[in-house]
Amino acid sequence: MSVLEKLSSADAIALEDKYGAHNYHPLPVVLSKGEGVYVWDVEGKKYYDFLSAYSAVNQGHCHPKIVGAMMEQAQTLTLTSRAFYNDKLGRYEEFITKYFGFDKVLPMNTGAEAVETAIKLCRKWAYEKKGIAEQQAKIVVCKNNFHGRTTTIISFSNDEDARKNFGPYTEGFIKIEYDNLEVLEETLKNNSDIAGFLVEPIQGEAGVYVPSEGYLAKAKALCEKHNVLFIADEVQTGIARTGKLLAVNHENVTPDILILGKALSGGAYPVSAVLANNSVMDVIKPGQHGSTFGGNPVAAAVAIAALEVIQDEKLAENAEKLGVLFRDKINEYISESNIVTLVRGKGLLNAIVINDTEDSSTAWDICVKLKEHGLLAKPTHGNIIRFAPPLVMNEEQLLDCVNIITSTLKEFEK
Ligand SMILES: *Cc1c(COP(=O)(O)O)cnc(C)c1O
Repeated sequence: MSVLEKLSSADAIALEDKYGAHNYHPLPVVLSKGEGVYVWDVEGKKYYDFLSAYSAVNQGHCHPKIVGAMMEQAQTLTLTSRAFYNDKLGRYEEFITKYFGFDKVLPMNTGAEAVETAIKLCRKWAYEKKGIAEQQAKIVVCKNNFHGRTTTIISFSNDEDARKNFGPYTEGFIKIEYDNLEVLEETLKNNSDIAGFLVEPIQGEAGVYVPSEGYLAKAKALCEKHNVLFIADEVQTGIARTGKLLAVNHENVTPDILILGKALSGGAYPVSAVLANNSVMDVIKPGQHGSTFGGNPVAAAVAIAALEVIQDEKLAENAEKLGVLFRDKINEYISESNIVTLVRGKGLLNAIVINDTEDSSTAWDICVKLKEHGLLAKPTHGNIIRFAPPLVMNEEQLLDCVNIITSTLKEFEK
């Protein structure tokens, strides 16, 4: 088959099935074009994207400013490695550190790499600044976390699919209940070898679990008290998704280490970053960490454009406003529904919980029906459907989507 020949959806799915590893279970839709809040399949059917590539496409598909920056840089210089300086990286580093209010940034490519970087940075800080004895540093993590797929990261996952038969696992993590300050305090009090607390401000993959109000601020205060680094994984919640630039901004928390990815490039390119102040970041010396592609000029140009779009188009404000409207409308529906028990979320990171057993296929079946009605969403764990459209959506489009969602749900009411 020629690569130029137009594929049907069935052909494209068959190719992936035969030649690709089966490490995902995609919805049966084959996309070939995207613009703003919309994507089109190979047969030309148009959909609202209500996943946004797991919140990577906050700025909308193929944003002209981001794509323009990428094309221009791609024609000029793509990669130097960090063996040499390039004329884009320093400008990007100045831009992003001022944008988020940190002294320094360490550029990487994927979210998991940035989490790995944060873990290494935290451990090194613990040995060299906090004075923890060699090999003893622990990082506190939360139950039901999702931080990526590397061997170390899955070592502290409690998702059996993510973990089973990938051992031996990396040591040095203490897993505690999410959204539980007493357990955090006990853990910090009873263990002097703790270097950091790694947390998602909202647990996205787990099913959009929003912690109690005040949790993040109080957890940060506890970390300060015990000289433990507060590490926020904002790979999914960051970059305007929850109605503020960062989800920690809802509680005026400044993390000691901030992890970003996904929408840092608006979905155009793999760009991730770890931000911290000098007292932490300066423990990393030449040769101690790196990445061939991290901080390449295309990534730098793309990330600047992607962050500018967030500000220029006031996407945090829009996410806040539309998120309230979305939850109001869905709650109206829920008051008369047997199939949906609740909607939760912040900004435009939301989920509904389906009233069926965890292992039933109802959430999946609803997503297949939503697809038929022109809206793409995906179940997360159990019977939960995440709704995370691009933040460039307008009110009319959102109301149209609410109609699609509620009329689809009606078909499943018993
Ligand atoms: C997606 C995600 C990651 C991993 O990012 P990748 O780019 O897929 O490696 C890490 N943390 C959180 C919270 C995420 O949502």
